[in-house]
Amino acid sequence: MARPAPGDRLRAATRRAVLALLAAEGPLSRADIGRRTGLARSTVSVVVAELLRSGEAAVSSDRGVPHKGGSGRPPVLLEIATPPGTVAGVDIGHRHVRVLLADRGGSLLAEGHAEVDVDPSGSGSLDLAAAMVRRLAEQERDAGPLLAAGLCVPAPVDATTGRIGSGVLRGWRGLAPAAELRERLAVPVRADNDANLGALAELHHGAGRGTGDLVYVTVASGLGAGVVLGGRLQRGASGIAGEIGHVQVDEDGALCRCGNRGCLETRVSAPRLLEQLQPAYDERLSAARVRELDALGDPGVARVLADAGRAVGRVVADLCNVLNPGAVVLGGVLGATASTVAGTREAIDRFAQPGAASAVRVVAGELGDRAEALGAVALANARLAHHP
Ligand SMILES: [Zn+2]
Repeated sequence: MARPAPGDRLRAATRRAVLALLAAEGPLSRADIGRRTGLARSTVSVVVAELLRSGEAAVSSDRGVPHKGGSGRPPVLLEIATPPGTVAGVDIGHRHVRVLLADRGGSLLAEGHAEVDVDPSGSGSLDLAAAMVRRLAEQERDAGPLLAAGLCVPAPVDATTGRIGSGVLRGWRGLAPAAELRERLAVPVRADNDANLGALAELHHGAGRGTGDLVYVTVASGLGAGVVLGGRLQRGASGIAGEIGHVQVDEDGALCRCGNRGCLETRVSAPRLLEQLQPAYDERLSAARVRELDALGDPGVARVLADAGRAVGRVVADLCNVLNPGAVVLGGVLGATASTVAGTREAIDRFAQPGAASAVRVVAGELGDRAEALGAVALANARLAHHP
């Protein structure tokens, strides 16, 4: 085959740039594309015509706003074409199984949720999850076949073996969750832990949008962090990257489930914080009620959550010095509260190098209890993008 002429290469690069822009910010009008890329109007017209012909872009059902609010015809908006087929995002937490079904652009089609204790049996939980996915895929079969799934499991997955490590979740030890779910659904499955998937979701859809370097901290049944650098999730050599819950903060502290003593997680996790608060309250506290009390300005809750934030922030301050993130996003059932965020901010300002502290926004996650499942959808779509 002849080598492409330089003009063709340039045209291919221009097409890729326009597609990337539509994927990130679409739907956009031709004029929007011109403004964002600096391309001439005639070039935009040619490239858009090519993309529509090749089926890579499509005309959106949305209409734009007439130029400068005028009364002219609203411009046609273009978006990236979503090929048929669906992906599932499965989130298995300690007390629930959540399933999202989405198209290949990440738009949600259907959702299922079950309250269940998943700890005693990994394979039983995966049976339930697979049944839920099959039901939603059947219900949305007009959108095309199920093509891939992402899976969130509440424990680190070893990147080389794909198995859950020892020392956690008795009913899951040694299990390879992605392989197990793949067997049940007969589609490719990728698994990761809650902190990594929460990071991915907040990066694409939540509080981390527009930041390529972020640390996502989840305060849930345990404490973990997901690290994104240069727009990419960092898992490390064996999937442990970001496991800040097991940073030792007290040499003589309580024994941790990992076998060490005084890990940060022995001080800060949702169960630990509820345990600290409960004796001072007459009502039975849940994480949801604690979030509500914090929003109402309850001083006891604010104190305990701010202390937890400060303990997290002390460890995250060191991460800020090492990684220089642009955002720290707090999620999980007790991470995304005003007091936790304020405590974390305070400790980062106190313990991180001033340059690193001033560069970082500290914010609450925006996706609530769907963060992990949305991250699992993103993981499944990423799998398809790399192995179509
Ligand atoms: Zn530990």
